[in-house]
Amino acid sequence: VFHHVVQAPEDPILGVTVAYNKDPSPVKLNLGVGAYRTEEGKPLVLNVVRKAEQLLVKDSSRVKEYLPIVGLADFNKLSAKLILGADSPAIRENRVTTVQCLSGTGSLRVGGEFLARHYHQHTIYIPAPTWGNHPKVFGLAGLSVKTYRYYDPATRGLDFQGLVEDLRSAPSGAIVLLHACAHNPTGVDPTSQQWEQIRQLIRSKALLPFFDSAYQGFATGNLDSDAQSVRMFVADGGECLVAQSYAKNMGLYGERVGALSIVCGNADVAGRVESQLKLVIRPMYSNPPIHGASIVGTILKDSSLSQEWTIELKAMADRIISMRHQLLDALHARGTPGDWSHIIKQIGMFTFTGLNSEQVAFMTKEYHIYMTSDGRISMAGLSTKTVPHLADAIHAAVTK
Ligand code: PMP
Repeated sequence: VFHHVVQAPEDPILGVTVAYNKDPSPVKLNLGVGAYRTEEGKPLVLNVVRKAEQLLVKDSSRVKEYLPIVGLADFNKLSAKLILGADSPAIRENRVTTVQCLSGTGSLRVGGEFLARHYHQHTIYIPAPTWGNHPKVFGLAGLSVKTYRYYDPATRGLDFQGLVEDLRSAPSGAIVLLHACAHNPTGVDPTSQQWEQIRQLIRSKALLPFFDSAYQGFATGNLDSDAQSVRMFVADGGECLVAQSYAKNMGLYGERVGALSIVCGNADVAGRVESQLKLVIRPMYSNPPIHGASIVGTILKDSSLSQEWTIELKAMADRIISMRHQLLDALHARGTPGDWSHIIKQIGMFTFTGLNSEQVAFMTKEYHIYMTSDGRISMAGLSTKTVPHLADAIHAAVTK
């Protein structure tokens, strides 16, 4: 009965790893997937995560019962505090409802489904470009997806004028997806003055902000600085949604830990919104997994473990920043034509190199370097040892 099923294409991001795994070359380099690697090119489990896991194993009172539909209560409270700030008035006024979801993706999907059922506007504006899964997640959630201008290839920076024009002409009430920090794939974020202008525009048109926070702490190494955009929108008393992921900042990729917070007008509304979120979640996956959220909860509720986490997080962010400088220096040393200063101006996990798909294909074929065809490279996948190889490849690709 399934004879008619056609082969689906590989996922454009995860497919890069599939191709990489098939390549027998000893010098091959995977800069496709956004996962942190050590200087030795190995995946990293944070020490603080190992410690939390040991504490959990030793606690014989822990059982494997189902969590409630909305997940672990402590985890939810601590997650809201982490993104909105410990002194957030919205939390104090009980206007925030937070549900544990399956990492960032699951949080976006649950938020999208909730909006499709209960929000009067079904159009969501996402930046062009954005993480490739966004249009699929929101489209399948039942929203109609449109884009707003974000990136200017000429400056390899923000197309602020285009962004403002597009949001200004969006219909009143439309949903706007914003990357809280470390925009993927461009590594280009608005300045705080630009954020303030975006906030005023969004509020004046009664647009609904939906933040995707997948990199808190990864952009600057500081959790509070990386949450400033979200906090500006909460400080003005208005509503918003926030999807959080612990994949990158705690290295919990495969544990699928995340949270969706909806900041509402008052506590009464927040309670009703939560009751409806349960109706979205129950038929989708019933309730979320317990292990990853327990790790996060154990770390966030203990001040010394939290402190340790921030140190390890800063070390990851700093290593990425150092890779940016090393790559730029290596290109300068080779006299590679063009302005490459965007490598150190862009922030977060990725550099949007400006290399075109033909140059990317050349680098994969001749240098065994794997990345998405839009020229995005994961800086976290580089090391001091591999920077020269990448610089050679970029140099050859732009001079051939
Ligand atoms: N949003 C953005 C912008 C991302 O880059 C990612 C991960 N690549 C996610 C959401 C979702 O990640 P996860 O589901 O693993 O938390």
